[in-house]
Amino acid sequence: MDLLAGMTLHKRLTLRYTLALGIVAVLTLASYGLMEHSVATEVLGARLLNVAGRQRMLCQRVDILTMRALHGAASERQAGLIELDQALRELSQGHELLVHGPAQALGMAEGNSALAVLRSDTDGFEALFHGFVAQAGELRQDLASGRDEAEVLRAMLGISRTGDALLERLDSRMEALQRLGEATLERLRWLVLGLLGATLAGLALTGRLLFRPMVAKVVRDREQLESLNRSLETQAGTDKLTGAFNRRTWDVEIRREFSRTRRQQGRLCLVMADLDHFKRVNDEHGHQRGDRVLQEFTQRLRQAVRASDTLFRLGGEEFAVLLPGTDIESGRLTAEKLRERVAGTGLDGLPITASFGVAETDGNESPDEFFRRADQALYVAKAKGRNRVETGARQA
Ligand code: GH3
Ligand code: MG
Ligand code: MG
Repeated sequence: MDLLAGMTLHKRLTLRYTLALGIVAVLTLASYGLMEHSVATEVLGARLLNVAGRQRMLCQRVDILTMRALHGAASERQAGLIELDQALRELSQGHELLVHGPAQALGMAEGNSALAVLRSDTDGFEALFHGFVAQAGELRQDLASGRDEAEVLRAMLGISRTGDALLERLDSRMEALQRLGEATLERLRWLVLGLLGATLAGLALTGRLLFRPMVAKVVRDREQLESLNRSLETQAGTDKLTGAFNRRTWDVEIRREFSRTRRQQGRLCLVMADLDHFKRVNDEHGHQRGDRVLQEFTQRLRQAVRASDTLFRLGGEEFAVLLPGTDIESGRLTAEKLRERVAGTGLDGLPITASFGVAETDGNESPDEFFRRADQALYVAKAKGRNRVETGARQA
């Protein structure tokens, strides 16, 4: 974890999910490998059983062929002897491969447990096998040389007994092989199931412990960022001292209101407000008191207008109020009401007045021209002695 501490978030997250996915990939590959191994084990088991089964069949065949060589006609006897030679040769070759040959010849590794079962000689299998082959060889000679039938029959009886004992041992080997194969497959099946379970658990844990917190964090960070963006946006568009919108927002809003007014064929009114002799307030009572006056003036403006009206501080102590859907007469009355209130009670305990300039537009002029008319009206109000409301008519 100390190692992770020095890394960037990006690197940390990348490392984590790469690691988790790596573990899942390894588990999946291991499952696949085990499955392949199961199939290979099954194929090998089948091959061994096949070879052992063939040995069993050859033993029985030797028995039958001697019988045929004894009782058949002369020509049949000859053919039987040839077949007997062939069967004995194949039996010896099979035994050589199964018991003494290199494991690779059977497609197995040295020390393979199935092979060990086949090659164990605790039951005297080896001696019995060689005895069987030797007896069969002798009998073949007897049959070829036409020896006394009673002796031949005795020898055949001996072979038959040895053959039965051999078959019994071969059978028990094949059963043991089958049991071993089944046990191995059962073990492999459980291993595959275990690995599959681990893979699924790995996936679930990866989702729960890694991706879920990762997504939660990304979403949380994004929400924080968006909220920060929103507050920065608001801050950037708002005047800190009074909370009124600033010139930056004004530039956007005046255009928006203008096009809306034009679209709806309505009216838009602008009231410009400026405190009278405000410089003196600062000079005589200090800048802080001046600030308080500005804040109170903003409050008064806000109370006097409707919620749909927007208040801007365009600079110093110069304010603008945009009144959508308002004609010049209503705008003038609003300004007049405000003027009276300020003049009646003053601001922050000081006898202060304000002057107003009002203009109306239908949106069919430039915003600058509209603003200029309202500002001009304000200028006229100042020129005519202040504490007045003047309107700026549009030139024909
Ligand atoms: P007039 O009646 O002609 O408007 O006279 P005035 O003294 O108000 O003149 P003007 O509008 O030119 O003066 C603006 C003054 O407002 C100048 C400055 O000291 C003051 N002012 C501008 N911004 C602020 C502010 O944020 N806080 C304070 N306290 N004073 C400010
Ligand atoms: Mg002023
Ligand atoms: Mg001014």
